[in-house]
Amino acid sequence: MSFPSPRCIPRFAPSGEWPEGGLEHLGRCPICSSEDRNLMHDNLRDRVFFVAPGSWRMWRCKNCDVGYLDPRPNSKTIGLAYASYYTHETASRANHISGPRSGLVRRLRQALRNGELNRSYNYHFEPSISSFGVLRVFAKRKAWEADAFVRHLPAPKPGSDQLLDIGCGNGEFVELAQKALGYRAEGLELDARAVEAARRLGICVHHGSVDQNDLPLQSYAHVTLCHVLEHLHHPVSALSNIRSLLQPGGRVWIEIPNLDAASHRQFGANALLLDSPRHLVMFNRKSLQISLEMAGFTSLAFKPVGGFIEEAYLQSWAIQSGIDPYSVEIADFPAHLKTAARRSADADSSRSLQVESLIVCAYRDNA
Ligand SMILES: [Zn+2]
Repeated sequence: MSFPSPRCIPRFAPSGEWPEGGLEHLGRCPICSSEDRNLMHDNLRDRVFFVAPGSWRMWRCKNCDVGYLDPRPNSKTIGLAYASYYTHETASRANHISGPRSGLVRRLRQALRNGELNRSYNYHFEPSISSFGVLRVFAKRKAWEADAFVRHLPAPKPGSDQLLDIGCGNGEFVELAQKALGYRAEGLELDARAVEAARRLGICVHHGSVDQNDLPLQSYAHVTLCHVLEHLHHPVSALSNIRSLLQPGGRVWIEIPNLDAASHRQFGANALLLDSPRHLVMFNRKSLQISLEMAGFTSLAFKPVGGFIEEAYLQSWAIQSGIDPYSVEIADFPAHLKTAARRSADADSSRSLQVESLIVCAYRDNA
Protein backbone atom coordinates (compact mmCIF):
# COMPACT_ATOMS: atom_id res chain seq x y z
CA MET A 1 0.00 0.00 0.00
CA SER A 2 1.34 3.46 -0.83
CA PHE A 3 0.69 6.56 1.24
CA PRO A 4 0.16 10.09 0.01
CA SER A 5 3.25 11.57 1.68
CA PRO A 6 6.16 10.60 3.96
CA ARG A 7 4.39 12.40 6.82
CA CYS A 8 1.58 9.81 6.80
CA ILE A 9 2.48 7.09 9.29
CA PRO A 10 0.74 3.70 8.83
CA ARG A 11 -0.39 2.26 12.17
CA PHE A 12 -2.39 -0.69 13.42
CA ALA A 13 -4.70 -1.03 16.39
CA PRO A 14 -3.12 -2.98 19.28
CA SER A 15 -3.73 -6.71 19.04
CA GLY A 16 -5.19 -8.71 21.92
CA GLU A 17 -8.32 -8.39 23.95
CA TRP A 18 -9.31 -6.24 26.90
CA PRO A 19 -8.86 -8.19 30.17
CA GLU A 20 -12.13 -10.18 30.59
CA GLY A 21 -12.45 -9.25 34.28
CA GLY A 22 -12.19 -5.59 33.30
CA LEU A 23 -15.35 -5.56 31.21
CA GLU A 24 -18.79 -4.35 32.21
CA HIS A 25 -21.86 -5.80 30.44
CA LEU A 26 -24.86 -3.48 30.26
CA GLY A 27 -27.60 -5.11 28.17
CA ARG A 28 -29.54 -1.84 28.30
CA CYS A 29 -29.17 1.86 27.58
CA PRO A 30 -27.01 3.70 30.14
CA ILE A 31 -29.26 6.78 29.80
CA CYS A 32 -32.89 5.62 29.67
CA SER A 33 -32.48 1.90 30.59
CA SER A 34 -34.37 0.73 27.48
CA GLU A 35 -33.32 -2.70 26.17
CA ASP A 36 -34.62 -1.83 22.70
CA ARG A 37 -31.55 -1.23 20.53
CA ASN A 38 -29.82 -1.67 17.17
CA LEU A 39 -26.22 -2.70 16.60
CA MET A 40 -24.55 0.34 15.02
CA HIS A 41 -20.89 -0.79 14.74
CA ASP A 42 -19.08 -4.04 15.36
CA ASN A 43 -15.35 -4.65 15.80
CA LEU A 44 -14.38 -1.07 16.65
CA ARG A 45 -10.71 -0.86 17.66
CA ASP A 46 -8.41 1.85 18.99
CA ARG A 47 -7.21 3.49 15.78
CA VAL A 48 -6.81 6.96 17.23
CA PHE A 49 -4.21 6.63 20.03
CA PHE A 50 -3.30 2.96 19.42
CA VAL A 51 -3.01 2.05 23.11
CA ALA A 52 -6.20 0.17 24.05
CA PRO A 53 -6.49 -3.54 23.26
CA GLY A 54 -9.88 -5.08 22.49
CA SER A 55 -12.67 -4.76 19.93
CA TRP A 56 -15.93 -3.02 20.71
CA ARG A 57 -19.58 -2.97 19.77
CA MET A 58 -21.55 0.25 19.65
CA TRP A 59 -25.30 0.08 20.06
CA ARG A 60 -27.92 2.72 19.39
CA CYS A 61 -30.83 3.03 21.78
CA LYS A 62 -34.12 3.01 19.86
CA ASN A 63 -35.79 5.00 22.61
CA CYS A 64 -33.46 7.95 23.39
CA ASP A 65 -31.09 7.78 20.34
CA VAL A 66 -27.87 7.57 22.39
CA GLY A 67 -24.98 5.42 21.13
CA TYR A 68 -23.11 3.29 23.69
CA LEU A 69 -20.42 0.63 23.96
CA ASP A 70 -21.55 -2.70 25.37
CA PRO A 71 -19.62 -4.41 26.82
CA ARG A 72 -17.28 -1.62 27.85
CA PRO A 73 -14.20 -1.17 30.05
CA ASN A 74 -15.22 -0.88 33.70
CA SER A 75 -14.15 2.04 35.83
CA LYS A 76 -11.28 0.02 37.37
CA THR A 77 -9.60 -0.71 34.02
CA ILE A 78 -10.57 2.26 31.81
CA GLY A 79 -7.18 3.85 32.63
CA LEU A 80 -5.63 1.32 30.19
CA ALA A 81 -7.23 3.32 27.38
CA TYR A 82 -5.47 6.52 28.45
CA ALA A 83 -1.90 5.25 28.57
CA SER A 84 -0.95 7.81 25.92
CA TYR A 85 -3.27 10.75 25.81
CA TYR A 86 -3.00 14.36 24.79
CA THR A 87 -3.66 16.32 27.96
CA HIS A 88 -0.34 15.79 29.74
CA GLU A 89 1.64 18.63 28.22
CA THR A 90 1.68 22.09 29.71
CA ALA A 91 0.15 24.60 27.31
CA SER A 92 -1.07 28.17 27.46
CA ARG A 93 -3.91 29.79 25.52
CA ALA A 94 -4.27 32.96 27.56
CA ASN A 95 -1.93 34.91 25.27
CA HIS A 96 -4.22 34.26 22.30
CA ILE A 97 -6.27 37.14 23.69
CA SER A 98 -3.84 39.50 25.35
CA GLY A 99 -0.33 38.43 24.33
CA PRO A 100 1.66 39.86 21.43
CA ARG A 101 1.06 37.92 18.21
CA SER A 102 3.66 37.77 15.48
CA GLY A 103 2.65 38.34 11.87
CA LEU A 104 -0.03 40.55 10.38
CA VAL A 105 -2.59 37.77 9.81
CA ARG A 106 -2.34 36.54 13.41
CA ARG A 107 -2.65 40.05 14.79
CA LEU A 108 -5.66 40.68 12.58
CA ARG A 109 -7.30 37.42 13.71
CA GLN A 110 -6.65 38.27 17.36
CA ALA A 111 -8.15 41.75 16.91
CA LEU A 112 -11.23 40.37 15.11
CA ARG A 113 -11.79 37.78 17.80
CA ASN A 114 -11.39 40.36 20.55
CA GLY A 115 -13.80 42.69 18.75
CA GLU A 116 -16.41 39.93 18.62
CA LEU A 117 -15.94 39.11 22.31
CA ASN A 118 -16.12 42.79 23.35
CA ARG A 119 -19.33 43.24 21.35
CA SER A 120 -21.08 40.02 22.38
CA TYR A 121 -19.87 39.45 25.93
CA ASN A 122 -18.97 42.87 27.27
CA TYR A 123 -15.21 42.36 27.51
CA HIS A 124 -12.65 45.11 26.93
CA PHE A 125 -9.87 43.20 25.21
CA GLU A 126 -7.19 44.98 23.21
CA PRO A 127 -6.16 45.00 20.46
CA SER A 128 -9.58 44.82 18.90
CA ILE A 129 -11.37 45.74 15.71
CA SER A 130 -14.78 47.04 16.62
CA SER A 131 -16.21 46.89 13.10
CA PHE A 132 -16.54 43.12 13.36
CA GLY A 133 -20.30 43.68 13.22
CA VAL A 134 -19.97 44.40 9.49
CA LEU A 135 -17.51 41.57 8.94
CA ARG A 136 -19.84 39.22 10.81
CA VAL A 137 -21.98 38.86 7.73
CA PHE A 138 -18.96 37.42 5.89
CA ALA A 139 -17.38 35.62 8.82
CA LYS A 140 -20.25 34.14 10.78
CA ARG A 141 -18.35 30.91 11.32
CA LYS A 142 -15.33 32.79 12.70
CA ALA A 143 -17.61 34.60 15.13
CA TRP A 144 -19.02 31.26 16.32
CA GLU A 145 -15.46 30.02 16.83
CA ALA A 146 -14.66 33.12 18.92
CA ASP A 147 -17.79 32.52 21.02
CA ALA A 148 -16.82 28.87 21.59
CA PHE A 149 -13.22 29.89 22.39
CA VAL A 150 -14.47 31.62 25.57
CA ARG A 151 -17.22 29.00 26.02
CA HIS A 152 -19.92 31.67 25.65
CA LEU A 153 -18.88 33.15 29.00
CA PRO A 154 -19.93 36.75 29.61
CA ALA A 155 -17.46 39.12 31.27
CA PRO A 156 -17.50 38.09 34.95
CA LYS A 157 -19.36 40.06 37.61
CA PRO A 158 -18.73 40.00 41.39
CA GLY A 159 -20.69 37.11 42.92
CA SER A 160 -20.99 35.25 39.64
CA ASP A 161 -17.35 34.80 38.77
CA GLN A 162 -16.70 31.32 40.20
CA LEU A 163 -15.94 28.84 37.44
CA LEU A 164 -15.14 25.13 37.49
CA ASP A 165 -13.79 23.31 34.42
CA ILE A 166 -14.42 19.58 34.78
CA GLY A 167 -11.98 17.23 33.05
CA CYS A 168 -9.70 20.23 32.63
CA GLY A 169 -6.75 18.18 31.34
CA ASN A 170 -3.61 20.31 31.34
CA GLY A 171 -5.63 23.28 32.55
CA GLU A 172 -5.28 25.54 29.55
CA PHE A 173 -8.89 26.69 29.68
CA VAL A 174 -8.74 27.30 33.45
CA GLU A 175 -5.72 29.48 32.82
CA LEU A 176 -7.49 31.34 30.02
CA ALA A 177 -10.60 31.89 32.19
CA GLN A 178 -8.51 33.15 35.10
CA LYS A 179 -5.79 35.20 33.45
CA ALA A 180 -7.52 36.53 30.34
CA LEU A 181 -11.27 36.51 31.14
CA GLY A 182 -10.98 37.43 34.83
CA TYR A 183 -12.87 34.52 36.41
CA ARG A 184 -12.01 32.88 39.73
CA ALA A 185 -11.39 29.64 37.90
CA GLU A 186 -10.62 26.14 39.15
CA GLY A 187 -10.26 22.78 37.44
CA LEU A 188 -11.17 19.20 38.29
CA GLU A 189 -9.16 16.38 36.71
CA LEU A 190 -8.89 12.64 37.29
CA ASP A 191 -5.52 12.08 35.61
CA ALA A 192 -2.69 12.76 38.12
CA ARG A 193 -0.15 13.57 35.37
CA ALA A 194 -2.51 16.13 33.82
CA VAL A 195 -3.07 17.66 37.28
CA GLU A 196 0.71 18.07 37.65
CA ALA A 197 0.95 19.72 34.22
CA ALA A 198 -1.92 22.06 35.11
CA ARG A 199 -0.37 23.07 38.43
CA ARG A 200 2.81 24.03 36.57
CA LEU A 201 0.68 26.79 34.97
CA GLY A 202 0.10 28.14 38.50
CA ILE A 203 -3.63 27.46 38.55
CA CYS A 204 -5.94 25.73 41.04
CA VAL A 205 -6.77 22.17 39.97
CA HIS A 206 -8.50 19.59 42.17
CA HIS A 207 -7.61 15.93 41.72
CA GLY A 208 -10.81 13.92 41.47
CA SER A 209 -13.84 13.15 39.36
CA VAL A 210 -17.32 14.55 39.02
CA ASP A 211 -18.59 11.61 41.09
CA GLN A 212 -15.81 11.68 43.70
CA ASN A 213 -14.69 15.05 44.98
CA ASP A 214 -15.08 17.29 48.00
CA LEU A 215 -16.05 20.46 46.14
CA PRO A 216 -18.54 22.75 47.89
CA LEU A 217 -22.16 22.44 46.72
CA GLN A 218 -24.04 25.37 45.15
CA SER A 219 -20.85 27.38 44.82
CA TYR A 220 -20.14 27.81 41.09
CA ALA A 221 -21.79 30.25 38.74
CA HIS A 222 -20.35 28.39 35.75
CA VAL A 223 -19.28 24.81 35.15
CA THR A 224 -17.77 23.84 31.80
CA LEU A 225 -17.04 20.43 30.23
CA CYS A 226 -15.27 20.29 26.87
CA HIS A 227 -15.31 16.82 25.30
CA VAL A 228 -15.71 15.11 28.68
CA LEU A 229 -19.28 13.80 29.00
CA GLU A 230 -18.81 11.10 26.34
CA HIS A 231 -15.94 9.62 28.42
CA LEU A 232 -18.06 9.07 31.54
CA HIS A 233 -19.67 5.78 32.60
CA HIS A 234 -22.73 7.45 34.13
CA PRO A 235 -23.46 10.74 32.31
CA VAL A 236 -26.86 11.41 33.91
CA SER A 237 -25.62 11.03 37.50
CA ALA A 238 -22.60 13.18 36.54
CA LEU A 239 -24.92 15.90 35.20
CA SER A 240 -27.00 15.65 38.35
CA ASN A 241 -23.84 16.11 40.49
CA ILE A 242 -22.86 19.09 38.34
CA ARG A 243 -26.27 20.64 38.92
CA SER A 244 -25.64 20.31 42.69
CA LEU A 245 -22.35 22.19 42.35
CA LEU A 246 -24.05 25.12 40.58
CA GLN A 247 -25.46 28.11 42.37
CA PRO A 248 -29.19 28.70 41.78
CA GLY A 249 -29.34 30.30 38.32
CA GLY A 250 -25.90 28.87 37.49
CA ARG A 251 -25.01 27.53 34.07
CA VAL A 252 -23.28 24.45 32.73
CA TRP A 253 -21.61 24.69 29.30
CA ILE A 254 -21.03 21.40 27.48
CA GLU A 255 -19.29 20.59 24.22
CA ILE A 256 -19.36 17.01 22.89
CA PRO A 257 -18.89 15.24 19.55
CA ASN A 258 -22.17 14.78 17.72
CA LEU A 259 -23.12 11.18 16.91
CA ASP A 260 -25.15 12.49 13.95
CA ALA A 261 -22.20 14.47 12.54
CA ALA A 262 -21.57 14.59 8.79
CA SER A 263 -18.21 12.83 9.27
CA HIS A 264 -19.92 9.88 10.98
CA ARG A 265 -22.40 9.59 8.12
CA GLN A 266 -19.56 9.77 5.59
CA PHE A 267 -17.02 7.45 7.27
CA GLY A 268 -19.13 5.19 9.51
CA ALA A 269 -17.00 2.99 11.80
CA ASN A 270 -13.88 4.90 10.64
CA ALA A 271 -15.13 8.24 11.98
CA LEU A 272 -12.58 9.82 14.32
CA LEU A 273 -15.30 10.92 16.73
CA LEU A 274 -16.10 7.33 17.78
CA ASP A 275 -12.65 7.06 19.46
CA SER A 276 -13.30 3.61 20.97
CA PRO A 277 -13.04 2.62 23.74
CA ARG A 278 -12.57 6.08 25.31
CA HIS A 279 -15.97 7.36 24.14
CA LEU A 280 -18.39 5.21 26.13
CA VAL A 281 -21.62 7.12 25.48
CA MET A 282 -22.23 9.19 22.33
CA PHE A 283 -24.95 11.80 22.06
CA ASN A 284 -26.91 13.59 19.41
CA ARG A 285 -29.03 16.64 20.11
CA LYS A 286 -32.05 14.62 21.22
CA SER A 287 -30.21 12.30 23.63
CA LEU A 288 -28.22 15.18 25.13
CA GLN A 289 -31.41 17.10 25.80
CA ILE A 290 -33.06 14.03 27.38
CA SER A 291 -30.00 13.46 29.61
CA LEU A 292 -29.95 17.08 30.80
CA GLU A 293 -33.66 16.98 31.59
CA MET A 294 -33.27 13.69 33.49
CA ALA A 295 -30.57 15.40 35.59
CA GLY A 296 -32.96 18.20 36.52
CA PHE A 297 -31.98 20.96 34.10
CA THR A 298 -35.09 22.74 32.89
CA SER A 299 -33.79 25.48 30.64
CA LEU A 300 -31.28 24.85 27.87
CA ALA A 301 -29.97 26.46 24.71
CA PHE A 302 -27.95 24.88 21.88
CA LYS A 303 -25.31 27.22 20.42
CA PRO A 304 -24.20 27.61 16.80
CA VAL A 305 -21.01 25.67 16.06
CA GLY A 306 -18.42 26.38 13.37
CA GLY A 307 -15.29 24.63 12.12
CA PHE A 308 -13.93 21.11 12.59
CA ILE A 309 -15.50 19.57 9.48
CA GLU A 310 -12.35 19.53 7.34
CA GLU A 311 -10.28 18.19 10.23
CA ALA A 312 -12.90 15.55 11.03
CA TYR A 313 -13.02 14.41 7.40
CA LEU A 314 -9.21 14.44 7.07
CA GLN A 315 -8.59 12.41 10.22
CA SER A 316 -11.43 9.96 9.54
CA TRP A 317 -10.07 9.43 6.03
CA ALA A 318 -6.66 8.69 7.62
CA ILE A 319 -8.23 6.05 9.90
CA GLN A 320 -10.01 4.53 6.91
CA SER A 321 -6.66 4.39 5.08
CA GLY A 322 -4.73 2.76 7.97
CA ILE A 323 -2.82 5.96 8.76
CA ASP A 324 -2.21 7.56 12.17
CA PRO A 325 -4.84 10.36 12.15
CA TYR A 326 -2.45 12.69 13.99
CA SER A 327 0.26 12.30 11.34
CA VAL A 328 -1.75 13.80 8.47
CA GLU A 329 -2.00 17.36 7.24
CA ILE A 330 -4.49 19.10 4.97
CA ALA A 331 -1.99 18.81 2.08
CA ASP A 332 -2.35 14.99 2.22
CA PHE A 333 -6.11 15.11 1.77
CA PRO A 334 -7.58 13.69 -1.50
CA ALA A 335 -9.18 16.54 -3.45
CA HIS A 336 -12.64 14.93 -3.74
CA LEU A 337 -12.91 14.57 0.05
CA LYS A 338 -11.74 18.12 0.60
CA THR A 339 -14.56 19.23 -1.70
CA ALA A 340 -17.08 17.02 0.13
CA ALA A 341 -15.97 18.47 3.48
CA ARG A 342 -16.30 22.04 2.15
CA ARG A 343 -19.76 21.29 0.77
CA SER A 344 -20.79 19.83 4.09
CA ALA A 345 -19.38 22.90 5.87
CA ASP A 346 -21.30 25.23 3.55
CA ALA A 347 -24.55 23.35 4.15
CA ASP A 348 -23.85 23.44 7.87
CA SER A 349 -25.63 25.99 10.03
CA SER A 350 -26.58 26.65 13.61
CA ARG A 351 -29.74 24.61 13.13
CA SER A 352 -28.11 21.69 11.35
CA LEU A 353 -28.37 18.37 13.16
CA GLN A 354 -25.16 17.20 11.44
CA VAL A 355 -22.63 19.59 13.00
CA GLU A 356 -19.43 17.90 14.18
CA SER A 357 -19.78 19.11 17.78
CA LEU A 358 -22.75 20.06 19.90
CA ILE A 359 -22.53 22.96 22.31
CA VAL A 360 -25.28 23.45 24.87
CA CYS A 361 -25.79 25.75 27.86
CA ALA A 362 -28.16 24.48 30.56
CA TYR A 363 -29.27 26.37 33.63
CA ARG A 364 -30.05 25.43 37.19
CA ASP A 365 -33.32 27.11 38.09
CA ASN A 366 -33.43 29.73 40.82
CA ALA A 367 -35.54 27.70 43.23
ZN1 LIG B 1 -31.86 5.13 25.76
